[in-house]
Amino acid sequence: MAGFVERNARREIFALTPYVPGKPIEEVERELGIKDIIKMASNENPLGASPKAREAIRGMLDDLHLYPDSNCYYLKGQLAEKYNLGEEHFIIGNGSDELLRLISETFISARDEVIYAQPSFVEYEFMTKIMGGGCKAVDLKDFRHDLVAMKDAITASTKIIYICNPNNPTGSIVTRQELESFMDGLSDDILVVFDEAYYEYVDNPGFQSGMEYLEQGRNVMVLRTFSKIYGLAGVRIGYGITSPDIAAGINRVREPFNVNLVAQKAAIAALGDSEHVEKSRNLNLRGKYYLYDELDRMGLKYVETEANFIFMDTGQDCQKVFRKLLAQGVIVRTGDIFGYPTFIRVTIGTEEQNQRFIASLKRALEE
Ligand SMILES: *Cc1c(COP(=O)(O)O)cnc(C)c1O
Repeated sequence: MAGFVERNARREIFALTPYVPGKPIEEVERELGIKDIIKMASNENPLGASPKAREAIRGMLDDLHLYPDSNCYYLKGQLAEKYNLGEEHFIIGNGSDELLRLISETFISARDEVIYAQPSFVEYEFMTKIMGGGCKAVDLKDFRHDLVAMKDAITASTKIIYICNPNNPTGSIVTRQELESFMDGLSDDILVVFDEAYYEYVDNPGFQSGMEYLEQGRNVMVLRTFSKIYGLAGVRIGYGITSPDIAAGINRVREPFNVNLVAQKAAIAALGDSEHVEKSRNLNLRGKYYLYDELDRMGLKYVETEANFIFMDTGQDCQKVFRKLLAQGVIVRTGDIFGYPTFIRVTIGTEEQNQRFIASLKRALEE
């Protein structure tokens, strides 16, 4: 006899594949009994959170009994100033993951289709399937979004198109021209979501943000997060920038206290710490070129990245490489989950971490 869940749960949940997160440091310590582990698996900031954010959190211990501001008034005010837009353009979430869920809950039902690239951030599929929507995953071409094929995939049922730019797990971006052709003549009844979680790391002057289309009055949503360059992944906060109409729609499904008090205060402080952002960005750029050099010397192929991680081809079974790196205390992400069984995705770390990663990788590949 089928179990309770099988008999009673919404059918949609059986289509879901659970998210595979990067292995936590404590888990590796427990399992392998080793110390001094470095995690280069989840694109966290190796410098940690902004010192100003840490100080803000330390200073709020006496307020923890209070409910947070439901409207994130001060944070929205600061974002409004930063982007020179009215506060009604912003929506704040418990990480941009929550915003992806809210977008789905607002717009997707069983008859609707969603288009995204593959491999890309897995949450687009997850959030669509939860709502019973149809998924159209369009393969990358040369590790980049194939915007022509994505546009061809549009039907009368298409509701949302996700463009992850830079793309996770490849670090690649779409060009201005590709984006221009893509947006040209696109239906007004399709929401284009630009997931720009790695925006602050982009160094390519040819990069075009989705913000440009928002300014043109198009129906787009730009997602940014405090989890990556701001180093606040653990407190969970991200934001979306869109039209007041779309923001108001999404606000209908949002829980009143979705963004906690600590996260709001930390984000406000982090936004004001441009020094930490600059430092993190520079460290990442130096690390990127160091890793490029070393990988070139080892004769390994990689995808050029505009983010804080590198997708590289080890030429061997990625699970084996993963385990050999793990045994040396280095956690990375395997490419098999993205459809690339010899690839790994490695977060760019501090100088010392990058050196240790390269030394460990050499050992892993030689063994
Ligand atoms: C890390 C990441 C996010 C951020 O998620 P949060 O929920 O804000 O931590 C969003 N999109 C992509 C593509 C990411 O890699």
